Amino acid sequence: MRLNKKVALVTGGARGIGFAISKALARDGARIVIADLNVDGAKTSASMLENASREHLGLKVDVANQESVTELLDEIVQQCGGLDILINNAGIGGNTPFLDIKLEDWQRMISINLTGAFIVAQAVARQMVNQGRGGKIINIASLSGQRGGNGRGAYGAAKAGLELLTKVMAVELAQHRINVNNIAPGAIETEMAKTAHDPATRKAYEYLIPMGRYGLPEEIADAAVFLSSDESRYVHGHTLNVDGGFREAGLMFG
Ligand code: NAD
Repeated sequence: MRLNKKVALVTGGARGIGFAISKALARDGARIVIADLNVDGAKTSASMLENASREHLGLKVDVANQESVTELLDEIVQQCGGLDILINNAGIGGNTPFLDIKLEDWQRMISINLTGAFIVAQAVARQMVNQGRGGKIINIASLSGQRGGNGRGAYGAAKAGLELLTKVMAVELAQHRINVNNIAPGAIETEMAKTAHDPATRKAYEYLIPMGRYGLPEEIADAAVFLSSDESRYVHGHTLNVDGGFREAGLMFG
């Protein structure tokens, strides 16, 4: 129960990676607030977490809307008295060739995956500074923010921005004992990957990933528990790639 008495906000936790992280943090004793655009999903997923006596919450948020995020933080302060951990995870997928990206789709991607992550991180960090007891912020970036990938222009640019923002947050928030890191997942078995990857893409990924398979949401969750716990207290401004070796693999020939 490493996270006993900690309150953790998981955005986009109704399903996929966010739900797996919520389950893992709850198993370690944290009280979880799942906040998602899909409020019914958030409530259902919150009701399925371990330690139901901790009164996990499922709340509505649109991370791209500052008013909605402010209301969420007010509700958390009212119901939980504050928070200790942010898993900044909500996001959308996207796979469009550079020459075909429409401006409105580019703007939607940036507004959710980068601006949305910024809005949530800033609101939570301000709350943590006011509380004066430090905290943990974990941004969910992506390997697509580190390497050129077919069709990943808008998505990758947003995630690259988030990775850089994390470093700046780490530099500026250390004085408040707020520990900030990224997790960069590789290809993970969720609805997002299922929608984005056709069978040929999937085969190519399985070939290029040294471990020969997609990762599981639970494997991202294990990394998130580490970065949420005191064991990672001197890991700061870091991007932890959880990708089966994909980032480090060279050409897989010869
Ligand atoms: P998912 O589509 O299964 O879940 C995303 C969740 O975010 C959904 O519950 C959705 O309702 C919520 N959401 C979307 N827009 C929102 C908004 N504006 N406000 C609040 N909630 C919103 O996706 P996932 O695969 O679990 O991905 C989670 C995170 O991990 C994302 O940031 C994604 O970019 C990142 N990621 C995923 C993969 C992968 O292979 N699945 C790889 C790298 C990074």
